[in-house]
Amino acid sequence: MSAASAASRIHCPIDFGRQGRQAGYLRAPHSRDNSGWGTIEIPIYCLANGEGPTVLLTGGVHGDEYEGQIAISRLAQTLDVDRIQGRIIMMPAVNIPAVLADRRLSPIDGLDINRCFPGDARGTFTRMLAHFMDSVVLPHADVSVDLHTTGHSADCALSTNMHDLPDAAMRDKTLAAAAAFGAPYNVVFAGVDEGATFTSCVERRGIVSLGTELGGWGRVNIEGVRIAARGIDNILKHFGVIEGEPDLAQADGTFGTRHMMVRERDAFHFAPRDGLFEPTHYAGETVEEGAVAGYLHVIEDVDTPPIAITYARSGVIWCGAGPGRVRRGDAVCVVMEDFAPDRPAH
Ligand SMILES: [Zn+2]
Repeated sequence: MSAASAASRIHCPIDFGRQGRQAGYLRAPHSRDNSGWGTIEIPIYCLANGEGPTVLLTGGVHGDEYEGQIAISRLAQTLDVDRIQGRIIMMPAVNIPAVLADRRLSPIDGLDINRCFPGDARGTFTRMLAHFMDSVVLPHADVSVDLHTTGHSADCALSTNMHDLPDAAMRDKTLAAAAAFGAPYNVVFAGVDEGATFTSCVERRGIVSLGTELGGWGRVNIEGVRIAARGIDNILKHFGVIEGEPDLAQADGTFGTRHMMVRERDAFHFAPRDGLFEPTHYAGETVEEGAVAGYLHVIEDVDTPPIAITYARSGVIWCGAGPGRVRRGDAVCVVMEDFAPDRPAH
């Protein structure tokens, strides 16, 4: 056991060096009024066979994002270890307190784990769990696919995502992995991340990192589940963990992935005040700069007409607001543009 894993308070039953199929539960201490030595069990699977890369599959980092949980759980329950060459670590419900509460934030300490990385071994439950993921799980991985959706707060165009990495070779390797995953879109973020996400942690360790947004609006997106399951299968094929070629056909008859970009400075559109937001377009629709993105209705005022919010740029809607009622400062729409890297290709 490494010094980093010894520092974690979470017990891990998996021997990552062992061949074959292992399934069990992380045991995370959670002292409560009626259970001072209480623990929370987090499911984990490790399948290893022969030599090959290690692919880490994570779902349920946010509890109200279902497609990745479903796809990883099904694969973990059904995949024959003799079919693989290498290792697959699967955690379908990383943030299980949030998963079981159907919430984005942890019901234990109110934190968003995806803003807590690299975490703290002696911190609150969420920080402790983030520290475990970074210090114990990630050192084993060569490739990480972290499956998200936009939860209750939005809907999204079905997509993978990644950062506009400064290392050109790593960026190209990640772009190739995204193309192999085969979602309709791949979104490259330029200046969007704050460094405290799981993705940033993965990248700091030099691991190929892909995220996804494959649904939202608090329901299970049927095509999102299909793309999640197929994308995982495609990634395992791309890295040689299972045999075969990725399937890249799309439901609308097109082929392959459209690479896009979200730039912080002008992609996000925010509500100017509290109100009921009426969007004009669905995620995935093409929109023009200056067109109306939606109307903000201030129902409680008799003298406030609907407030039009317009697109700051042309592109394709990546995320659109979901819940109807929004607060001043909430993002109601994110527009992506075609991929054009800030850095020249090497
Ligand atoms: Zn998420």
